Amino acid sequence: MRAYNFCAGPAALPTAVLEKAQAEMLDWHGKGLSIMEMSHRSKDYVAVAEKAEADLRKLMNIPENYKVLFLQGGASLQFSAIPLNLLGKNSKADYIHTGIWSEKATKEAQRYGDINVIEAGTTVDGKMAISDQSTWNLSDDAAYVHYADNETIGGIQFANIPETDKPLVADFSSSILSAPLDVSKFGLIYAGAQKNIGPAGLTIVIVRDDLLDQAKPEIPSILKYAAQAKNDSMVNTPSTYAWYLSGLVFEWLLEQGGVDAIYKANLAKAELLYGYIDSSDFYANPIAKANRSIMNVPFTLANPELEKQFLKEAEENHLLNLAGHRSVGGMRASIYNAVPLEGVQALVNFMDGFAKRNA
Ligand SMILES: *Cc1c(COP(=O)(O)O)cnc(C)c1O
Repeated sequence: MRAYNFCAGPAALPTAVLEKAQAEMLDWHGKGLSIMEMSHRSKDYVAVAEKAEADLRKLMNIPENYKVLFLQGGASLQFSAIPLNLLGKNSKADYIHTGIWSEKATKEAQRYGDINVIEAGTTVDGKMAISDQSTWNLSDDAAYVHYADNETIGGIQFANIPETDKPLVADFSSSILSAPLDVSKFGLIYAGAQKNIGPAGLTIVIVRDDLLDQAKPEIPSILKYAAQAKNDSMVNTPSTYAWYLSGLVFEWLLEQGGVDAIYKANLAKAELLYGYIDSSDFYANPIAKANRSIMNVPFTLANPELEKQFLKEAEENHLLNLAGHRSVGGMRASIYNAVPLEGVQALVNFMDGFAKRNA
């Protein structure tokens, strides 16, 4: 049986997608070989790659003047690729700090330019929150403004897209495709695939055309967006299987009714879980309501000594990977697109039973 998997990443994939991949594994579309064994330059593979891009464009309503790149190295390599590509003409950038991932992005960028760090963490009634933009000290001459839409570890998410006349660069690793998004507000959006898209090994970069010509000359060609765009993300061999499987996830999302429909489902899941946590004295979530992540729900137990027992019993109940990140402890349920409402309901039922048994 398949358990409910609340892993933060690599994360749950839709069962229907895995079944399709399984059915196509040995003999893809009657060609006598698997997709993994095909040249990335073959007509068949290129068609798979192009279909995945077209479906992602449809799902996110990506305007014509944006390139969609299918890269490797994870979101973490983009922490370097972004400054190397975008700090060529002006080596200043603003980085908004809301948690561990935006901080890691900042640390890498500081190797390449003059980075203005904006501390946006605050508290509201004792809960962690993101401060109002009016309190931020944005520079007037930044080449771009960077932020992480959803801090996967802290479970804190922006309620709005920051306003700026500079190119806005955003890490959407754990929130891409979870809710409708106006791509035209951004200069660049990036996301590692292994949270809310597909297998690890693929990184999506959506970049506006006018940002392609300002890379630093010493940039490795694999990291250069202009070179990758010109070569259809095939400057070298791409992560072909992850790209194919992500394409199956995009088809699955379209079948679900697209991003609007999955957003509704995600809201229902988040409301169910946060609603239960708020109603209980046994569990607590540390984030102010306006900034609660709809994808990653951290929670603590009133008695931390019960954490091990909680995790053990959860696993016995086929509820997997609920431990919080090693840096923060506690619990975390990641409820990405592929986690169904029934999974969240099963989690809430288990949490309620556990609380009653240990009251
Ligand atoms: C997971 C994650 C990353 C790092 O992703 P890798 O693909 O492992 O490099 C960066 N940012 C956010 C928001 C993440 O959730």
